[in-house]
Amino acid sequence: MDATRIINTLNDAQRLAVSAPAQAMLVLAGAGSGKTRVLVHRIAWHIKVNQIPPQNILAVTFTNKAAQEMRIRVEDLLAISTRSMWIGTFHGLAHRLLRQHSKQAKLPDNFQVMDSDDQLRLIKRLLKNLQIDDTKWPPKQVLWFINAQKEEGIRARHMANNGDFFYKQMLLIYKAYEDLCERSGLVDFAELLLRAHELLRDNEDLLQFYRKRFQQVLVDEFQDTNTIQYAWLRLLTEGNNNLFVVGDDDQSIYGWRGAKIENIFSFQKHYPEHQVIKLEQNYRSTTNILQAANAVIANNDNRMGKELWSDAGEGERLSLYTAFNEQDEAYFVVEKIRLWIKDGGLRSDIAILYRSNAQSRQFEERLMTTGVPYRVYGGLRFFERMEIKNALAYLRLSTNPHDDASFERIVNTPTRGIGLKTLDDMRMLARDLQLSLWQAAQHMLAQKQLSTRAAQALQGFMQLIMQLATDTQGKTLDETVKHVVETSGLIELYKKEKQDKGEARVENLEELVNAAKLFDYDSSALESEVPLSELDMFLTHAALEAGGTQADASEDCVQLMTLHSAKGLEFKLVFMVGMEDGLFPSLQSVDDMSRLQEERRLCYVGITRAMLQLYLTHAESRRLYGKDHYPEASRFLKEIPTQLIQEIRMRANVSRPYAPTSSNSSSHTTAQDTFRMGQAIRHEKFGEGVVLQTEGEGEQERVQINFRQVGIKWLMLAYAKLEKI
Ligand code: ATP
Ligand code: MG
Repeated sequence: MDATRIINTLNDAQRLAVSAPAQAMLVLAGAGSGKTRVLVHRIAWHIKVNQIPPQNILAVTFTNKAAQEMRIRVEDLLAISTRSMWIGTFHGLAHRLLRQHSKQAKLPDNFQVMDSDDQLRLIKRLLKNLQIDDTKWPPKQVLWFINAQKEEGIRARHMANNGDFFYKQMLLIYKAYEDLCERSGLVDFAELLLRAHELLRDNEDLLQFYRKRFQQVLVDEFQDTNTIQYAWLRLLTEGNNNLFVVGDDDQSIYGWRGAKIENIFSFQKHYPEHQVIKLEQNYRSTTNILQAANAVIANNDNRMGKELWSDAGEGERLSLYTAFNEQDEAYFVVEKIRLWIKDGGLRSDIAILYRSNAQSRQFEERLMTTGVPYRVYGGLRFFERMEIKNALAYLRLSTNPHDDASFERIVNTPTRGIGLKTLDDMRMLARDLQLSLWQAAQHMLAQKQLSTRAAQALQGFMQLIMQLATDTQGKTLDETVKHVVETSGLIELYKKEKQDKGEARVENLEELVNAAKLFDYDSSALESEVPLSELDMFLTHAALEAGGTQADASEDCVQLMTLHSAKGLEFKLVFMVGMEDGLFPSLQSVDDMSRLQEERRLCYVGITRAMLQLYLTHAESRRLYGKDHYPEASRFLKEIPTQLIQEIRMRANVSRPYAPTSSNSSSHTTAQDTFRMGQAIRHEKFGEGVVLQTEGEGEQERVQINFRQVGIKWLMLAYAKLEKI
């Protein structure tokens, strides 16, 4: 047996957890202590030593990336295929269950998964239908309300209609929303979880089947499970004492989405036979990094209290850079990245972590200009881009004409002269007769209610969709996608758009065909035991997938992501950027103690991603969401002991814009030209622009230029080859 191989790379506490007799267990430990490693080795142990067939194991985690990693690690350890194992995210596994048992789940066979963007659209339309003023009832707020109910397992029919006005109105909308989704065969993310729970709860046979099947259930990042996820886990494991969870209360960062740290206490109550194991050695980070993390999190109260130490050596101090503005920040970060690469470091060992997706653009631009490959996780994900969603809507509608969200999205994209009035009438009819929009359209055409022009346009659209459905029968997935992309008229539409943007959109559509070609059942973590068309799989994958195909995953590239999506991952070199009050911690949290503590946990998560080196940056001025801010440095920075931090001062000389009259008195000794504010220049690549300011001296001298074509950029004077004009 390979038992020794499975445990000989573990410390004593880890070994204990991995080789314990089958029973409920809680591994509670700080970041980088090997929780995920223990979980993976535990799976291997069950398969090799306890002889549990892989298909009898269920392992859950939070991101697709983490699930994929888990698969690979088990395969490496055991040299077996994990195909038959249920490893995935809560959403992915819930989806799989619903597909397999759609009838019992009371869903149509071809139900479609909506992402949050689709969901918001649907809600907007619903409010319109109900003639509810969406300035008083913001669609986003409605969405939060509905999702929050679902996360608690509450359906509209469970809610008593006796609250205040707000409550009553929300209830009414929730009810109507449920009906609409039901009619259209649409399932949102929260619904996936809720329905998967109801499926098992209400079908005793199924429940018994799965209880027997999953002899072991393992959960990573348990601190971030919400009520319905935990209830689902309990259903599956009740009475069997076979739930193995690992987590860290200090890393609970999804309270705002319904996660319950309390589940850790509930677990201890619900599984009285359980064993608790604590891990204390951190294997990931240098002691400087670890001490900084410990110091920050020490400011939170109500912690369960854990020790963490490392024998990895002190390592370098953390670096702190105060940038002039967000462009300077990006400039600094990318320069450091270039040095790392120049010294032979891998790009994929580098992560830029930010609080909000909107921050990624500056870094993307800078990386692009300097030719450093990168990949953005989350944010403007490939499958969330407008053109991609439009193409997917064509595909969706051709497989399910009653998918109202898709119908809405493309009925007039590209424009075909279906007026707002026609659409409104159609929506009204659909509402009154409880029809899908497709059926309403058919009805209107049959009744000859439309003007000839409108009727022709609508007919044309519907014929196109039906034609797509017939044309693509028997075609492979990528042929189907290609055909639909080409026939939909989207390519022509974007070709007409302003140069760059339109071009990028056409390229993205081509990339979609490529994604379809490369689409891999096995790794999609969605594989199903019932026959499901490849197209349906692909469409679901598109809704669930967070990474997308923007940069080839196998390419060595810098990783950009939010702090939230960095959970569980590790990188040799980490940049935590935008460390400013109002951004991180977020504006909404600074006056709210419990939210502030959640932000602090997020900071702890960020710091503990770093293995060797951690850079912290903030800017003195920042333009965000179209407004200028002059933020204070993040309070979290002040919680790190100063002896652990080294401040980097690039701007030894205060960077005052040169006064026009002083330009000639510049004391530079280099042969470079000096540039004064307002000087018009030309750059080989960026074209014409105007100098805004300069800073630094000699080799380090930089100029900030507002280019007519590409906007504001900082350039190193020594390399920029600027021509005065
Ligand atoms: P997080 O809380 O961030 O999810 P974690 O507790 O899950 O962290 P892991 O990712 O499992 O920690 O482990 C952190 C790093 O330490 C990994 O690179 C892992 O391979 C390594 N590691 C863990 N235990 C050991 C060990 N006993 N010997 C050597 N390396 C180890
Ligand atoms: Mg982990």
